[in-house]
Amino acid sequence: LKNVSFHYKNTKELTIQNFSLAIEKGEIVSILGKSGSGKSTILRLIAGLEIPFSGSIHINESIMADDKQFIQPEKRGVGMVFQDYALFPHMTVAENIKFGLKKMSRIQKKERLDEVLALVGLKEYVKRYPYELSGGQQQRVALARAIAPNPSVLLFDEPFSNLDAELQIKIRDELRTILKQTGITSIFVTHDKMDARALADRVVVMEEGTIFRVGEPAEVLNNEFTMSPVPV
Ligand code: ATP
Ligand code: MG
Repeated sequence: LKNVSFHYKNTKELTIQNFSLAIEKGEIVSILGKSGSGKSTILRLIAGLEIPFSGSIHINESIMADDKQFIQPEKRGVGMVFQDYALFPHMTVAENIKFGLKKMSRIQKKERLDEVLALVGLKEYVKRYPYELSGGQQQRVALARAIAPNPSVLLFDEPFSNLDAELQIKIRDELRTILKQTGITSIFVTHDKMDARALADRVVVMEEGTIFRVGEPAEVLNNEFTMSPVPV
């Protein structure tokens, strides 16, 4: 993101102000910050659900949005995982995961399904419906579904907030392993400093729509909010 600014239609104040951040391929970045600081809005801008007011957004060296161009969300190669998992309740695990694989042949879909289910350890659950799964299992299905189309970027918006503490710790460790195996570049929004520390290669702290601090987890989280901002 280069100098991205943005405001919602019904407001004049900038929700995002001059936000610049370069994320390496395969890197996991956590975004922390107070409620209302603009974390979800940044993800929406990257996904193409909002149009920047100024600045530009790039993925794999291609322009996704600037003052002349705008690439539609489905063409960006970006996957999202949200807090409420958003699985289709009337579809099985297999159907949920295959849903995003429209362009593949039947055999390719089956292969990809087996691959991603093995990755999240849910092979035996392929015929179950979401209501027949625990919260943690549903979360892993949501992850498998997001990974299945081979996105170049995965966005997570507080995906663990419905899980109990023990499960949260187990899943975040699994998640880091899975993301590093697949090499998918990931941005992970959380309120939880421990999530950020356990998962991320780099942590961004947002405040009022811009970057307040950025750096390695240990460095940023040890001194968070007590030191003056560092230049980005
Ligand atoms: P939280 O931690 O509570 O999820 P957040 O950091 O994700 O907060 P955003 O959802 O990005 O914050 O919201 C940033 C600001 O934009 C807030 O002031 C919010 O009220 C405002 N906002 C969010 N969505 C809209 C919208 N659709 N229309 C107008 N304003 C919005
Ligand atoms: Mg949010």
